[in-house]
Amino acid sequence: MSRQVYLDYAATTYTAPEVVEAMAPYFTESFGNPSSIYSFSDRNRKAMTKAREQVAAVLGASQDEIFFTGSGTESDNWALKGTVWKLAAKGKDHIITTKIEHHAILHTGEFLQRQGYDVTYLPVDEEGRVRLEDLKKAVTDRTALVSIMFANNEIGTIQPIAEIGAFCRERGILFHTDAVQAVAHVPIDVQAMNIDMLSLSAHKFYGPKGIGAMYLRKGTRIENFIHGGGQEKGRRASTENVAGIVGLGKAIEQTASRMAESAPRITTLRDMLVDGVMKAVPHAKLNGAPSGERLPNNANFSFVGIEGETMLLDLDRAGIYGSTGSACSSGSLDPSHVLMAIGLSHEQAHGSLRLTLGEETTGEDIRYVLSVLPDIVAQRRAMSPLWEDYLKGLQKESR
Ligand SMILES: *Cc1c(COP(=O)(O)O)cnc(C)c1O
Repeated sequence: MSRQVYLDYAATTYTAPEVVEAMAPYFTESFGNPSSIYSFSDRNRKAMTKAREQVAAVLGASQDEIFFTGSGTESDNWALKGTVWKLAAKGKDHIITTKIEHHAILHTGEFLQRQGYDVTYLPVDEEGRVRLEDLKKAVTDRTALVSIMFANNEIGTIQPIAEIGAFCRERGILFHTDAVQAVAHVPIDVQAMNIDMLSLSAHKFYGPKGIGAMYLRKGTRIENFIHGGGQEKGRRASTENVAGIVGLGKAIEQTASRMAESAPRITTLRDMLVDGVMKAVPHAKLNGAPSGERLPNNANFSFVGIEGETMLLDLDRAGIYGSTGSACSSGSLDPSHVLMAIGLSHEQAHGSLRLTLGEETTGEDIRYVLSVLPDIVAQRRAMSPLWEDYLKGLQKESR
């Protein structure tokens, strides 16, 4: 069998075997509806409470502040829509977010703008960081919500969340963070960081797909997003995904408990990858912030002169799975909004490659990538008119 190296953990993780095992009984012998009052459903109710406690423990929250949703995307939608739907009547119809959010936030913001709400998209510096001064300038009397992601899914940059939280608290503005990439991978404390709402998703930390959660600080009043029955204390209707909830709880507990051991190990492997690529590929650029201010598992490169899409297919043939901020993969003409927001040229964004590591990544995997990737880049460049133009441009500059 040929080698397979999965380096797209930011897109999704596998579900850990111990998580699948914990979920299994809730598909079979314990299938009862948690809303049914008979004793047959007791085990399900208890399992959901345990999962809520497992999530709360990792965030520094209490279990009655955790609400299960269908995904990270749903939690993001709920935070934005639920806030303005509640607060617009009080003259608070303005949301501040950033240009580098996940589409779950950006497209929700654009939808709300079409509905007549006001949304500001803050710029970021060239490493992808929001500046507190920009946030302070954007705030008005009408600002209902600040929504800034904890860590970026493309370039891994971690935002100054505690500073932003402290500012919002002082100004009496609700603060939401899309922490889907960060939860169980970097330490989070919703109390110390003054976070009012936080979105998370199980399939980014070795749990199943299609189950998420929202932390909603006690006393935070926002409108519901999904209407129907009285589940989740009347805040989120629909028969609970008990197996998914159990899986989310188990996954967050297990992954977070390994953080102290796995984060440094993954950081070391990531740095080995970055150093190797920067040495072996001429004119390579590392996008994002330095180690310490970026997710341990994230590497994002730009190789001018080539097309990210083609590079992905070459890597695929070598059994390596990554992703790109190039246009075609998103089905649109424009390259990644994140890479554009940090000031990359179209050429740099089109030649981008994101490799994200995980718990199963080994040193051997990284050495394999380093034995393959530089040749792929060199071969594609040798055939590329873009690369020729780039070299000519450099020659002109040096003359
Ligand atoms: C994956 C991701 C989401 C979406 O989560 P789903 O559970 O897949 O809907 C939202 N925000 C960020 C930052 C993500 O990485």
